[in-house]
Amino acid sequence: MRVGFGYDSHRFEEGRPLYLGGVLIPDAVGLKGHSDADVLIHAVIDALLGAAAHGDIGSHFPDADPQWKGADSSKLLAAVVDEIHAAGFAVGNVDATVICERPKLRPHVETIRARLAELLQVDVGCVSVKGKTNEKMDDVGAGIGIEVQCVALLLARSANRLTFNLSQ
Ligand code: MG
Repeated sequence: MRVGFGYDSHRFEEGRPLYLGGVLIPDAVGLKGHSDADVLIHAVIDALLGAAAHGDIGSHFPDADPQWKGADSSKLLAAVVDEIHAAGFAVGNVDATVICERPKLRPHVETIRARLAELLQVDVGCVSVKGKTNEKMDDVGAGIGIEVQCVALLLARSANRLTFNLSQ
């Protein structure tokens, strides 16, 4: 078993759609970013890559690369899940906390969990998404953007492949 931690943050930007966990959140201000700025997927990706010690989202999808401009983060996550599988791991579970003053996450949590489970190729019971505010403290509390913290567990799909990876 391997554990990884991911973190991401993006500022709000008027006029952009808000994507969280691959789900379009209606009637919400979007986030600034080179890709679709899906802050939740970005944190999940970093948790998965961290658990596998496979670098980070920036090394896989550099934001200076025009190929990733406006990229659908769902596709980035699907590619990372393929990479994790090829390295001999399966996703065990993911637990993410989304921190923002707005929008309210609760109405969207089940839709987001289902979409993330699909992308991660796991049962929805292996995906936890929790929303909370920052109690109006600091920049996130002032409503400037959204922060996400995430942990992910990877399971070895075969003992041999895990040994191979650990020896690298
Ligand atoms: Mg990001």
